[in-house]
Amino acid sequence: MDDKFMLMIPGPTPVPESVLLAQAKHLIGHRSGEFSQIMADITENLKWLHQTQNDVLMVTASGTGAMEAGIINVLSSGDRVLVGSNGKFGDRWAKLCRAYGLQVDTVEAEWGKPLEPAAFQSALEADAAKSIKAVIVTHSETSAGVINDLEAIAQLVKAHGEALMVVDAVTSLGACSVPMDAWGLDVVASGSQKGYMVPPGLGFVAMSDRAWAAQKTSNLPKFYFDLAAYRKDGAKNTTPFTPPVSLFFALQVALKMMREEGLEAIFARHARLQQATRAAMTALNLPLFAADDCASPAVTAVMPQGVEAEQIRSTMRKRFDIALAGGQDHLKGKIFRVGHLGFVCDRDILTAVSALEATLASLGAEGFSPGAGLTAAQKVLSA
Ligand SMILES: *Cc1c(COP(=O)(O)O)cnc(C)c1O
Repeated sequence: MDDKFMLMIPGPTPVPESVLLAQAKHLIGHRSGEFSQIMADITENLKWLHQTQNDVLMVTASGTGAMEAGIINVLSSGDRVLVGSNGKFGDRWAKLCRAYGLQVDTVEAEWGKPLEPAAFQSALEADAAKSIKAVIVTHSETSAGVINDLEAIAQLVKAHGEALMVVDAVTSLGACSVPMDAWGLDVVASGSQKGYMVPPGLGFVAMSDRAWAAQKTSNLPKFYFDLAAYRKDGAKNTTPFTPPVSLFFALQVALKMMREEGLEAIFARHARLQQATRAAMTALNLPLFAADDCASPAVTAVMPQGVEAEQIRSTMRKRFDIALAGGQDHLKGKIFRVGHLGFVCDRDILTAVSALEATLASLGAEGFSPGAGLTAAQKVLSA
């Protein structure tokens, strides 16, 4: 039953029907006044979502492209960067930086554990020569379901005085508060297929004044992702190259929905869905991979014992048309991940938890009482 297909992965996330339908409209010229009006509306709402007065630019790319655009516009060859890594995405930013010849130091934590702000503090305090030009952190590390303490790390970066704070907010923006201005973030990257409730294809890069100052002297190679061109044209609500017009239609509708719900309500909904999911897993005797105090609002990673994670996933997919995410790299086959990001409501969690209980029963899992997960989730959701 393909039409019943339910995505519970951390991206692409479910897309509301009104957003899907917006993409079916006839295209319009991207040099038209009509398009500029849409772009102006979107830009204003993007600033609202980022809680910023800074520029928020759009590029045709997935989230990785948005991160790459941010990094290559503010750094120069041979610059030293400090990259936080406690999962697949942190590792990716280290690789990306090395590909551009940057000098990469890493602050690492085990997958499932948060990055320690103290480790950034000692590295930054030891840098008397101020040679560290950027600190790069994944706010919500999707591969392990961990949220890092970005606010604390950003404060340390501010105290350093030279380094820019570059953030992957791909699965935190639209799930929890990422106040760019209040926290002093310099580059914030995200992608449309996550908290935005839009199909993949648009990347977002927000840049502070300090980031623009660094951009003036940045010498890393760039052409399509030269953000100065996006800024210049963006001031006239246009784009340097042909934008994905249908995705702009979709994004306009999705952002309007977000504004109607309100930032605080969106964050509260994600917190509630996260807590209900975690309570259900615990009640089903399924160990959570990350501790409560560092749990991502977007995705819950679970490490089942005595039942194969991949068997759970394939049964959920075949019997119930529910897609869960698997583990990545060394966690492949060891964990499954439940996405609760974007267009997700209480009903989705209750459905997924009951399907999971039926799945566990059909796989002959022991040590859980059928109904316990649902009861625990309901309790959180009705509080
Ligand atoms: C999804 C995701 C990205 C972007 O991945 P793309 O496939 O390039 O869109 C980056 N960081 C995190 C933490 C993510 O979850």
